[in-house]
Amino acid sequence: LNPDNSNFTPEELDVEKKLRPLSFDDFTGQDQAIDNLKVFVEAANQRAEALDHTLFHGPPGLGKTTLAHILANELGVGIKVTSGPVLDKPGDLAGLLTNLDERDVLFIDEIHRLSPIVEEYLYSAMEDYKIDIMIESGPNARTVQIHLEPFTLIGATTRSGLLTSPMRARFGISSRLNYYKKELLTTIIQRSSQILKVPISMEAAIEIAGRSRGTPRIANALLRRVRDFAQIKGDGTITIEIAQYALKALRVDAHGLDEMDTKILTTLIDKFKGGPVGISTLATAVGENGETIEEVYEPFLIQEGFIVRTPRGREVTEAAYTHLGKERGLNQGE
Ligand code: ATP
Repeated sequence: LNPDNSNFTPEELDVEKKLRPLSFDDFTGQDQAIDNLKVFVEAANQRAEALDHTLFHGPPGLGKTTLAHILANELGVGIKVTSGPVLDKPGDLAGLLTNLDERDVLFIDEIHRLSPIVEEYLYSAMEDYKIDIMIESGPNARTVQIHLEPFTLIGATTRSGLLTSPMRARFGISSRLNYYKKELLTTIIQRSSQILKVPISMEAAIEIAGRSRGTPRIANALLRRVRDFAQIKGDGTITIEIAQYALKALRVDAHGLDEMDTKILTTLIDKFKGGPVGISTLATAVGENGETIEEVYEPFLIQEGFIVRTPRGREVTEAAYTHLGKERGLNQGE
């Protein structure tokens, strides 16, 4: 149930594809981002121009890749997909860029992981739709300028803090995706169960939604596993009893917290008497990068009311003590 999709089997990837919304109308939530994107897409379509370069940032599994595909569909253009770590030579990038048709989308996932030379190369492509290619080598080496069709670069990153400022400045549109509320995840689960043709009760959908860590990818992954339990231990329908039984067997936390979430809360309580504590001290104590805590873990813990940010640092709330079954120490001024 890792929100990262890198270790999916081919069959799981196939199901992922089926569940992926294809248009703005299919996409649930992120209303503010979607409303703006609809305007930008319509305006670009009217002018028959390429959409401005677009950056999606936010925690994994919230729909960045999905939105890149939706934008291409809504623009009525093709999309080529790659990722920062894969594009290690300027030649690889040139190959992709020169194969784009007018207004096409080039989607680069994990764009913060581009190598500096590839990134540099991308600048002129983004700005002037031109690239310089080095041909031949040794004394005959020379560069040739190639003109590209106007295109849209869509970048996605979970770590916007790691993006260089020249890179960031080249995106005309920048959109942050946030964790989903339980009600939206319930709708997503109902939609997915229809596609998977597995009947599910409203209560069961709500139960799974509440344990999905605000993340559609986790919601879909849990739904698939619970479906297995419904098939083997029940009559194929996902009832609330089946959902609870399965989620218990899968050891899913009642709020969907993952290992690092729990570690952060436990560390705050056990080592820092509940805080307040600064982000770098906390990061060292849990062995995770401070920016990752700020960009991936903390927003969810704050949304769920387990942590508050104060001017003196992070503090856990009463809800965190209750959830972890821990007592607030007597030295906490209670
Ligand atoms: P990563 O950064 O890890 O690649 P991501 O943000 O690109 O993640 P996606 O791959 O787009 O996330 O989404 C994960 C899955 O969640 C998709 O297969 C899709 O089915 C589902 N999903 C995401 N957002 C929504 C949504 N708003 N409505 C319905 N399903 C969604």
